[in-house]
Amino acid sequence: MGDCIFCKIANGEIPAATIYEDEEFRVILDLGPATRGHALILPKTHAANIYEMPDELVGKAMILAKKMAVRMTQALGCDGFNVVQNNGEAAGQTVFHFHMHLIPRYEKDGAMVSWKPGKLTDETREELLEKLK
Ligand code: AMP
Ligand code: ZN
Repeated sequence: MGDCIFCKIANGEIPAATIYEDEEFRVILDLGPATRGHALILPKTHAANIYEMPDELVGKAMILAKKMAVRMTQALGCDGFNVVQNNGEAAGQTVFHFHMHLIPRYEKDGAMVSWKPGKLTDETREELLEKLK
C-alpha cells in the first residue's frame, strides 16, 4: 500500500512518537489525542480494517492492547481506559489502515466514548436473534 500513511509510520519510513515496537506492531502517540497519553496500535502489515485482518494478528493486537493498558495505567496513573477500534466511515474511521485506540481516562476528563441508549423492543430482539444467532 504505497500511499498508506500508517504503513509508512508503522514501518519507520515516517517518524512518529513510538512508545512500543516489536516485529509485528508499532504503538505511537496519537497526533490529535482525546486525552493525555492517547496512543494507537498499528500493525506493520497493511489491512484496511478488522474484516481484512488475519485472525492471528487480531488476537495478538488484543493481547498487546492489554499489555499497553497495564503499562500505561501504571505510568500515567489514569483512572480508567478505553480500547476503541473503528471500521468504516460510518463508524468514524478516518485512516484506512487497521488501528486500535488506547485511550487513558481520567476522572472528569470530558472525553467522550459514549452513546445515548435506545430501547431493545421485543420485535427487534426476535428479528436480531433470527439474523445473528
Ligand atoms: P480513526 O478515526 O479511528 O481512523 O482514527 C485515526 C486517528 O489517527 C485519529 O485519532 C488521528 O488523530 C490519528 N492520526 C492521524 N494521522 C496521524 C499521524 N500522522 N500520527 C499520529 N496519529 C495520527
Ligand atoms: Zn497501511
